[in-house]
Amino acid sequence: MKEMYQSLGVSAGVYEFGEEILRDLRPRFDAIDQVAEYNQAKVLQAMQKNKISAACFAATTGYGYDDVGRERLEQVYADTFHTEAALVRPQITCGTHALAVALSANLLPGDELLSPAGGPYDTLEEVIGIRESPCSLKEYGVSYRQVDLLPDGSFDYETIRTAIHEKTKLVTIQRSKGYATRPSFSVRQIGELIAFCKSIKPDVLVMVDNCYGEFVEPIEPSDVGADMIVGSLIKNPGGGLAPIGGYICGTKHCVERCAYRLSAPGLGQEVGANLGLLPQLYQGFFLAPTVVAGALKGAIFAANLYERLGFRVIPNGTESRHDIIQAVELGSPEAMLAFCQGIQAAAPVDSFVTPVPWAMPGYDAEVVMAAGAFVQGSSIELSADGPIRPPYAVYFQGGLTLSLIHI
Ligand SMILES: *Cc1c(COP(=O)(O)O)cnc(C)c1O
Repeated sequence: MKEMYQSLGVSAGVYEFGEEILRDLRPRFDAIDQVAEYNQAKVLQAMQKNKISAACFAATTGYGYDDVGRERLEQVYADTFHTEAALVRPQITCGTHALAVALSANLLPGDELLSPAGGPYDTLEEVIGIRESPCSLKEYGVSYRQVDLLPDGSFDYETIRTAIHEKTKLVTIQRSKGYATRPSFSVRQIGELIAFCKSIKPDVLVMVDNCYGEFVEPIEPSDVGADMIVGSLIKNPGGGLAPIGGYICGTKHCVERCAYRLSAPGLGQEVGANLGLLPQLYQGFFLAPTVVAGALKGAIFAANLYERLGFRVIPNGTESRHDIIQAVELGSPEAMLAFCQGIQAAAPVDSFVTPVPWAMPGYDAEVVMAAGAFVQGSSIELSADGPIRPPYAVYFQGGLTLSLIHI
């Protein structure tokens, strides 16, 4: 094995250091496998209940009327996440698009959007209008209010109480830290925050940005009162196989509105050809609990390895996990580039290219991204990225095969 790694450019010393770290992690890996097994059973049950068969994998084109496979896939998502309805579509181009659809479908002029747990993910700044953009919610007369986390990372309940008023229509909560160095929230914490907001205003809607959180815990935010959970299929729930797509799962009322926003008023969920992508969407969802377990193990491995080397890592080596992201504060742009170049060199695709920072649409700083992925930008595949700004942290995630190797 050592020789094999040496031929891949990993020295014997580095290999042994990695093995030493891994040895201590076995008990944690066992606990991760248990969660994966439970979530696998949820997905399996949803597929059996909805009688998935070869007929569900057929391609549709054009309008996509009477697309049984598309309808059943949406029901599988709804049943797995315990929601009334689901919109799962290749026409949703990415996570940002899914979130933008969910927000713009459920907020009307004069309404206010509240983020009670600090700033949202970078790309949502333009969706909301925190940074000006054509077609932002702000342009359509939707106002925005934000309550930052307390210095210790907890929710500022007293300020949240005063921030909820008659115009507050929708509360958005982001499960994963995104490109921030705050902790990610557990589903239980999110449930407490939802209960608090609804105790002040029972009819307020709650949307959870569930990106990178799916299948990390035995329950999802939809099990603790979220009206909508939203995410990307080139992250956790696509299992590495989905080539595109996003999902919105939630109440019938909210999801129906999202479908009208995504297609057109009057058309809604009835249109949207699957273009032959359903086998990958089904199989990816089936594999997702296992793939997420592997990604979690990789994240914990990286945390312990870099912690041992003296870097600040978030979460730290022993903390509980609520998403698959591992932040490592490297302290300089050069170190970020070196890290990303290492990840790129280890990839099955584009291992020979050098990642360089670029002005990615939707971000205010240049972003460097290492992704030698089968699906462009897929971050459930082994990847590392981050905005080139202090504290110069890389966000490391994904990996499709670790669960298969370290059984
Ligand atoms: C990835 C991500 C998004 C959406 O990003 P896309 O690149 O548009 O898929 C939104 N929120 C969080 C927390 C994310 O991690």
